[in-house]
Amino acid sequence: MAASILIVEDEEKLARFIELELRHEGYQVTKASNGRDGLELLEKGGFDLCLLDIMLPELNGMEVLRRLRKTSGIPVILVTARDAVMDKVAGLDMGAQDYITKPFAIEELLARIRVSLRDDSPSAHIPEGELLTCGKLELDRARHTVKYDGADIQLTGREFLLLETLLENKTIVLSRDTLMEKVWGYDYMGETNVVDVYIRFLRSKIDDVFGIKLIHTVRSVGYVIKDDVDG
Ligand code: CA
Repeated sequence: MAASILIVEDEEKLARFIELELRHEGYQVTKASNGRDGLELLEKGGFDLCLLDIMLPELNGMEVLRRLRKTSGIPVILVTARDAVMDKVAGLDMGAQDYITKPFAIEELLARIRVSLRDDSPSAHIPEGELLTCGKLELDRARHTVKYDGADIQLTGREFLLLETLLENKTIVLSRDTLMEKVWGYDYMGETNVVDVYIRFLRSKIDDVFGIKLIHTVRSVGYVIKDDVDG
């Protein structure tokens, strides 16, 4: 059955262009030209994916996403004209699967849609019940919890996945590209500064809070997690 895609985009020409391309690929397409209509349609359900512009009249894309995530986990690809990393990071943190920056090549958009529609998130095949540790840091895969010396640490889904990946490779230096691929699911075409931003998030919630140094930067290579005593 053809996947059903909702395009929330106020630029009429662009929306029409994407619609035609998606129909050509065999998708069912519905359009909304402002955030409020988009949210209303999303809340009714029946879509497999939403292409959501951030700069929208009535209700901006981030707000649509925030409200949508209270009731629905459908894949959302954010469309942003801005090039600010924080914007993208905030979007991903709020539960968007992906983002694409205008102007984009239609092939790139189609590739991202295919990836988002595939139900194989990086963590889907990881066996449950395993405890990953580094010093006093403990990540419980089954319970999806992280503790340091017994104290709970609240992480977002993406932060959890990043920490999990680092812990799976404890003492092994991982490049930004490798982390991108493992945590975000595929190659992001050079936008690896998202990794740096998320490493900062993790450090602010773990290293800074507990006065330790577990997440290490290896200059011009990448990142590694190791206990101080591991050397
Ligand atoms: Ca717009």
